[in-house]
Amino acid sequence: MTSIFTRIISGEIPAAKVYEDALTLAFLDINPASRGHTLVIPKAELPGLLDLPPDLVAAMAHATQTVAQALMTALKPDGFNILQNNGQAAGQVVFHYHIHIIPRWAGDRAVGYWKPGSATADELRDLAALITAAVSKAGA
Ligand code: AMP
Repeated sequence: MTSIFTRIISGEIPAAKVYEDALTLAFLDINPASRGHTLVIPKAELPGLLDLPPDLVAAMAHATQTVAQALMTALKPDGFNILQNNGQAAGQVVFHYHIHIIPRWAGDRAVGYWKPGSATADELRDLAALITAAVSKAGA
């Protein structure tokens, strides 16, 4: 199925575009969390971060930095959030990889935050060992 973002790339659906290069496109979110809320997408229709080849991860990081700098220059927010949802449980609605850049102004409460939990040093050590083993298997 063609994603709504692929239809934006093809021009079938209009979007307020702010940046484009050979591999990526950025446009304003239609339901912005704040003024200037922008989405950066790869032109290739890939669902999530784990589906991107390394060169596309790099291209997305570069495009995101470029757009974030432009948002800071143009809108002069006090900061910005980078958000990226993977999977329905994480709040992903559009299954075409995208990075949210959300400009922030002091006190705007534009983005909700997690409730800090707690963990013992033993729990953190065991968890780190489990994850490190998986990193090794991934060949990093
Ligand atoms: P996510 O929950 O990370 O999948 O976010 C999807 C985002 O895409 C939401 O913030 C939507 O407002 C945004 N969105 C969906 N359709 C469009 C569209 N046609 N143009 C711009 N943004 C869109």
